[in-house]
Amino acid sequence: MKILILAFVSAILFLKFACFTSESDKKISTKTDSPMNTINRVKKDTIINKFNNLDEDAFALHYDAIVIDTHNDILMPVFLEGADISKNNPHTQSDFVKWKKGGLDVQVFSIYVPERYKSGHFKYVMKLIDEMERYASDYSDIFALCKNYTELQNGLASGKMCGLMGSEGGNMVEGSMDNLVTLYDRGVRYLGLTWNTSNAIGTSARDENERGKKGGLTEFGFDVVKKMDEMGMLIDVSHLGETAFWDVLQTSKNPIIASHSAVYSICPHYRNLSDEQIKAIAKTNGYIGVNFYCKFLDPSVNSSKVKSIHSNYKNGAKNIDSDDLIEFNKQRYDYMTNNRIDGGTPVDVLIDHIDYIVKLVGIDYVGLGSDFDGGVYSPNEIYDATCYPIITKKLVERGYKEEEIRKILGLNFLRVFKQVSP
Ligand SMILES: [Zn+2]
Repeated sequence: MKILILAFVSAILFLKFACFTSESDKKISTKTDSPMNTINRVKKDTIINKFNNLDEDAFALHYDAIVIDTHNDILMPVFLEGADISKNNPHTQSDFVKWKKGGLDVQVFSIYVPERYKSGHFKYVMKLIDEMERYASDYSDIFALCKNYTELQNGLASGKMCGLMGSEGGNMVEGSMDNLVTLYDRGVRYLGLTWNTSNAIGTSARDENERGKKGGLTEFGFDVVKKMDEMGMLIDVSHLGETAFWDVLQTSKNPIIASHSAVYSICPHYRNLSDEQIKAIAKTNGYIGVNFYCKFLDPSVNSSKVKSIHSNYKNGAKNIDSDDLIEFNKQRYDYMTNNRIDGGTPVDVLIDHIDYIVKLVGIDYVGLGSDFDGGVYSPNEIYDATCYPIITKKLVERGYKEEEIRKILGLNFLRVFKQVSP
């Protein structure tokens, strides 16, 4: 009976997934187009100091900088629930409209198969990639799906938002080196070796921590790491067990990334990285995208409090009537400051994680890996993807210089991507 019900639910979900594209109309809401006229969308990969008074110009700096988020799960609500990536959805944390308003330039899309699918993982991700390619073609005037640094540079120079693909959880490789090569050929540029469950590649952080499972990389896992190095595919250690992590570090010759992880010393959760792991990643000239999920940021998190603060701040922001994005952000920030709600997890905690990594290993290895739309709730002030500018404002308040902020917002990841996938 259980199997019958499972089969029925899977069939419904699959049908929804398969039908999605015909339901979607292909128009981007123009509501936020006008504010963007005042914003520089054409971006170049150079570190420049342009602003004299960051206290005044924090939001201007945000929209001038290259902003990259190295992990987002929007493809789940889009494919499985029929959300429209081009619309300002009330129930998603991100979409084209919110990214534009939040000043995001590059999004790495997580190519992920939900755990409830017990087979057909490779086939599933091939369909996800088909859909990503369809977006690239339908929205080619504003969006460029890129496969390497050169394409990314061209996309940024043309003022388009750019997308990269990164696979999460090596289960879609299905133990086949040919599948790994196909993923690469189709444009996937990082692979998170496991999700929360161990697989043919290696053991996961949850299995190692909560189930006492050891083992590290399998023999196939070692081959996968070597092949990824050879092809120029970034190895993502978010979700990976610590034993497997050290196996990777001893095997790979490339910079290692953790696309969406935070600091264990601040919040001891199995998904976070120990100081030794952070140091080891930095030593490879790698990158850590700090996850926005309050559960990974704040050991005393109160989820219902955070969610109620989100809706308060979001409702307050709805009353701000400005077509100018910088002005909108100033007013929103003032509103949040003047109507501050205590409790929950303030954005300062997210900045603490960034700050901790900077103090431990230096400015060159940290960035943003929101995990938006992956079932996470982010800090109080960061209620959705329109709120990235608040992070820049907070970094200014912490005393970070323009050059350092540009590195955190995007240039650190760009450096690693350029090295591994030129
Ligand atoms: Zn994840």
